[in-house]
Amino acid sequence: MTPATPDIDTAVVGAGVGGLATAHALGRAGRGVHVFEAADAVGGRMRTLHSDGWRIDTGAEMLPSAGYTATWSLIRELGMAAEVSRVPGALSLWRGGRARPHAGRPLGLLTGGGLSPRARLELVRLQAGSGGDVGEPADPVTLEEFAASRSPEVRERFLYPLAAGFFGWRPERSAAAPLLAHLRSTGSTAHWRTYRGGMDALARRLAAGLQVSTGTAVHRVAAVPGGARLTLDGGTVTARSAVLAVPAPVAARLHPGAPADERGFLASCTFAPMLRVSLALARRPATAGGMRGFATLIPAAEDDLLNVITLDHNKHPDRAPDGRGLVSLIAAPPATAALMGAGDAEATAALAERAERYLPGLRSLVRRVHVHRFPHGLPEATPAALREHRTFRGRPARAVDYAGDWTQLRPCSEGAVASAQVTAARLLAHAAERPTSTHPVRPGRTLR
Ligand SMILES: Cc1cc2nc3c(=O)[nH]c(=O)nc-3n(C[C@H](O)[C@H](O)[C@H](O)COP(=O)(O)OP(=O)(O)OC[C@H]3O[C@@H](n4cnc5c(N)ncnc54)[C@H](O)[C@@H]3O)c2cc1C
Repeated sequence: MTPATPDIDTAVVGAGVGGLATAHALGRAGRGVHVFEAADAVGGRMRTLHSDGWRIDTGAEMLPSAGYTATWSLIRELGMAAEVSRVPGALSLWRGGRARPHAGRPLGLLTGGGLSPRARLELVRLQAGSGGDVGEPADPVTLEEFAASRSPEVRERFLYPLAAGFFGWRPERSAAAPLLAHLRSTGSTAHWRTYRGGMDALARRLAAGLQVSTGTAVHRVAAVPGGARLTLDGGTVTARSAVLAVPAPVAARLHPGAPADERGFLASCTFAPMLRVSLALARRPATAGGMRGFATLIPAAEDDLLNVITLDHNKHPDRAPDGRGLVSLIAAPPATAALMGAGDAEATAALAERAERYLPGLRSLVRRVHVHRFPHGLPEATPAALREHRTFRGRPARAVDYAGDWTQLRPCSEGAVASAQVTAARLLAHAAERPTSTHPVRPGRTLR
């Protein structure tokens, strides 16, 4: 039986940027919010490890200056614009033994980027959305189907490596439209940015103004008369509303009683796993093939195991102590599943051995290794998920709602931050129909 007066007003499950931005928006609207986070720190897939002077971005790496409307609006609201700086030499594409600079920007198309004139023309049309060949985001066509009529160069040397490197996607599973919409809205990679102090800067700033309990896993969320009931290790908490700001498969597990118009999307919203190995180095490594700048994408035709190399010390000088280096290796999607099941030493050995081709002598420089595994790396945005999304979006506002990149089917941090506005508006509309008595959780309160 739910008490007439719930323990708290709104409970948010998950302190990634999606959950924190939702809590922030609700707080600004005058609601009492408490965030429950299973991990020992905030940030989720946008977390940074602060270790002996290294700042290791475990998930999200960067944000573009275009197309991230909700994120930039939040950054300005929090007065953080000066904490965001440009990523020099953002993206290169490996081809024929060389890192081709300026990938994904007009300069790259002008200078060639290792692509033929025909492929460059195709890319210009793709990014501009001209030629009537770019579907709307709701088009249920896989990337593989979409790419079938493109030249092999554009397919294998551009679209597939980007989909794999950005989202961990496999072209036969994910829909083309969200990737194309992302490329078109974010524009040139020359405008990539990163947070000084680590990609978790936004999450930390949001959390500083909120009530957050880290190390507190929520095991179950149920809609009950008058609101929601959460089951935690110490007992239960009742709330007028609850937001599940966790990846869709986790949300489905925590909320088995989700109504039918939510269940279809929750079930179809699968995630691509991602695995990154970060290597803290005694010094900056030598590079082959003219590799410099920040990230280099390696097409599957060149390497079936290693998909992205990032020179994090080039992203921002504060990522490694003076004179030291920081490099990350991201596994290619087809190899990720096997590496996820391997031990840290095995996964590191496999990727670092491969990386020697691009960074000769790398392994002799390694001082510390961090392996980051994301079973729920990024929403896959399959055609089935796109179809179910329409029903999900049209569902009525309820006491138990959701936030996160997947709710927008936008596989990036902008999707998570943008979801906050939508979710907060839905919860406020729902709560407006009900009485407003609330009791914020007191620190140290014993949970029954
Ligand atoms: C390797 C990688 C690279 C990426 N690179 C970029 C990039 O460069 N740019 C970009 O914009 N985006 C990038 N992304 C995507 C971006 O990180 C995500 O879109 C965004 O961080 C998602 O935020 P979220 O709040 O929706 O989910 P999450 O960050 O996953 O937050 C969910 C939170 O819920 C917590 N949680 C889970 N279960 C429970 C439970 N039972 N109880 C309580 N808490 C729970 C988790 O610990 C987590 O903190 C990347 C993602 C990955 C994995």
